[in-house]
Amino acid sequence: MHNNSIIELSRAALQQNLEFLRATFGKKIIFSSVVKGNAYGHGISEFVTLAHECGISHFSAFDAEEARIIKQCVGSNATIMIMGFVADEDLEWAIENDIQFFVFEKTRLQKAVKSAKKLGHKARLHIEVETGMNRTGFNENELRWVTQILQNEKEHLIFSGLCTHYAGAESVANYYRVKSQIQAYEKAYNFFKDSGLVPQLRHTACSASSMMFPETRMDLVRIGIMQYGLWPSPEVFVNYMNAKRIKSDPLKRVILWKSQVMSVKKVNAGDFVGYGTSYMAGSKMEIAVIPIGYSHGYSRSLSNHGHVLINGQRCLVVGTVNMNMITVDVTAAGNVRKGDEVVLIGNQQEAAISIASFSDFSNQLNYELLTRIARTIPRNII
Ligand SMILES: *Cc1c(COP(=O)(O)O)cnc(C)c1O
Repeated sequence: MHNNSIIELSRAALQQNLEFLRATFGKKIIFSSVVKGNAYGHGISEFVTLAHECGISHFSAFDAEEARIIKQCVGSNATIMIMGFVADEDLEWAIENDIQFFVFEKTRLQKAVKSAKKLGHKARLHIEVETGMNRTGFNENELRWVTQILQNEKEHLIFSGLCTHYAGAESVANYYRVKSQIQAYEKAYNFFKDSGLVPQLRHTACSASSMMFPETRMDLVRIGIMQYGLWPSPEVFVNYMNAKRIKSDPLKRVILWKSQVMSVKKVNAGDFVGYGTSYMAGSKMEIAVIPIGYSHGYSRSLSNHGHVLINGQRCLVVGTVNMNMITVDVTAAGNVRKGDEVVLIGNQQEAAISIASFSDFSNQLNYELLTRIARTIPRNII
């Protein structure tokens, strides 16, 4: 832990987002809160505890390590699903603890059967099918083999779900690819059904597909970015706002990341600021030094681009982002002093730094910048 910066998570914002999402999906659809990547940088323990208090009882993790942390927070009062990696040494732990997990290859299915037999405890499996992303998932020609195992090993396996993941539903450019994935999923589902195997749940949707392709919601939605109050892309946001003819964003950012001014100094026209020559003062300037750098997850790509808020004013990051510090131009921000609050993400007075402007306007950067925020920064729920 260190005190260079702190993160606050807003309970009110999360409640608002969950209310909006529940109203959008309806009561019949299970809401799974996706908390991989340290809960998108929010802090997995703190976020899971908060979400659980707000009524969430289904969580999706990437691996067994995250699943263990979720379990520590919620005990057996919530369902935990691993969407990605389960190391061989974690498999028995997962099965014994009724942790559900995606299975997307033959060896994993065989090992799950073996472990379940050994433990005398059924494994809860989500069979992931390949529909066009070409990352993980059983290919069509492997499905017959999968159905045979599921049938022969019935006493050891629970067919908890049939799932897939879309390759870029946040962009209209991928419209046909996603549509064909939906069809491929339906085809796989029918294949299982015709073999007498009906999964407990059908699920395919992430935030973007749940908004852009409502038919992908099925029985359960796996929602990451939107519960944190951010849209998967500007396209999804604009599409929603136009369709509903509303003007104000129904989502509210949960995270606030703030630091303080460590030191202030004056520089003259023609002086270079920081390492090398990436920034030269065009006139007399005042520079504030903030004790945050790329080691804390403030990306180097924000060198000479990022903004922070001081005195309610947007101040440009000048020079390169260092390991532990950034320098910002506070010439126009009034009388800035050591100890003044600095907002890296969030609101201050009337101004706001959204993650989209904290990053670039590129979609995937929101996800990347959030998940890089250092784990050692204290997280407080307010
Ligand atoms: C990350 C992830 C999600 C959630 O994605 P968002 O865009 O954050 O909603 C859903 N499903 C899978 C398989 C994922 O890896």
